[in-house]
Amino acid sequence: MKYVSTRGQAPVLSFDDVLLAGLARDGGLYVPETWPEFEPEEIRAFRDLDYPALAVQVMLPFVGAAVTEDELAEIVAAAYAGFGHKAVAPLKQLGRNEWLMELFHGPTLAFKDYAMQFLGRMFDHVLGQRGQRVTVVGATSGDTGSAAIEAFRDREAVDVFILHPKDRVSDVQRRQMTTVLSANVHNIAVEGSFDDCQDIVKGMFNDPAFRDDMGLAAVNSINWARIMSQVVYYFWAGVALGAPDRPIAFAVPTGNFGNVFAGYTARRMGLPVDGFVVGSNRNDILTRFFESGEMTTRAVVPTLSPSMDIQISSNFERLLFDIHGADGAEVARLMSDFRRDGTFSIAPGLLQETRELFRGFSSDDEETKRMIAQVYAETGEILDPHSAVGVAAARAGWAEPDVPMVILATAHPAKFPAAVEEATGIRPGLPASLAGLFQRRERCDVLPNDLAAVKAHVRARSRWRN
Ligand SMILES: *Cc1c(COP(=O)(O)O)cnc(C)c1O
Repeated sequence: MKYVSTRGQAPVLSFDDVLLAGLARDGGLYVPETWPEFEPEEIRAFRDLDYPALAVQVMLPFVGAAVTEDELAEIVAAAYAGFGHKAVAPLKQLGRNEWLMELFHGPTLAFKDYAMQFLGRMFDHVLGQRGQRVTVVGATSGDTGSAAIEAFRDREAVDVFILHPKDRVSDVQRRQMTTVLSANVHNIAVEGSFDDCQDIVKGMFNDPAFRDDMGLAAVNSINWARIMSQVVYYFWAGVALGAPDRPIAFAVPTGNFGNVFAGYTARRMGLPVDGFVVGSNRNDILTRFFESGEMTTRAVVPTLSPSMDIQISSNFERLLFDIHGADGAEVARLMSDFRRDGTFSIAPGLLQETRELFRGFSSDDEETKRMIAQVYAETGEILDPHSAVGVAAARAGWAEPDVPMVILATAHPAKFPAAVEEATGIRPGLPASLAGLFQRRERCDVLPNDLAAVKAHVRARSRWRN
């Protein structure tokens, strides 16, 4: 399998190069040159597999020569061994044909672990093969950071720098990052928004000298390997509910569009998905896009679901590339409009097609709390605010009761105890694995929203020099 950039100007790379490269050198994102496709009988056979075995089958077509099937099986087994539920990604029924897929049974209690635990081990494997070291830099709206730190802490071949927006992540989220005191882990609180953090990370990657000097690697969802590992649970839910003999729909609480794009990938690979409802909080750029075909940024507003307080959904570029028939020049043009004017539009015909598969729905904080309370009253299930945005989107945006609707529950309620308590009167407790989080010492550097300052900091602290 070869990978091409969404902007058409970067070298074509193999899986292991894409794994370490993250962002393409033309500013684009790597995508597979072709979509591997499963036959219906292959998908039917997935019903007999447990989660790790399914993960091997779904990811094998993407990895190429860098990893053998046996090695992949070992990596996957290790990645999911520490998860807190035997099913790894259990499905819970909420209504007649409404299901919650709980993606919060990893070590940091958000769905990011499903990709990151895999990615950490994949890095080890490939870096070991090459005798190389890297500096991982990433921006987080809250959950990516802790998942990355947990996956990369104490790994000899990796230094990890995680930027989070100062005071805009929850206390649990911050402490899950800042209480990891490993020498290779560096937390940076940026005086700005998540989009500012993401811009700084992109700025570091867009400086070829800095990128090479530091051996930069990305673990944000711009990294294809993350998307790839998230494709697995779409198949998991699909075959559990009757695929390929029955269609399915998903509602996904969305920020960077990575998780939804993994679902779209599953559909491209043959999973019969009838629709995706893209759930947003008040940062509703995607909802507005699916209404109008116009992507226009506004200022980010803080909400109860901070991991989705995002106005620039990086992974949307991958969808743009695909719906434009892999026309990198056109995507490059749209993205340069976007950078210059904060807006771009797609052709009405394309919007029409896109809307046949995707719809957007946004909820404000009041609606989110109401949904947490309502689902608790109906089922006893306690949702976190992100998952509640997903349920709200499913209920408002999906009207085909005979197609099973799976809502992705992206975080454990204990990550956002204040909002959950306000909605239900119950303060969800942290699982035993995180007891003592509030007694641990924190370490973090506060830096201005300034690319040069962050670069200087990374340069000074990284153990890695080319
Ligand atoms: C990251 C995150 C999201 C958004 O996922 P994207 O892939 O960025 O769309 C939603 N919910 C939670 C809890 C998250 O951590």
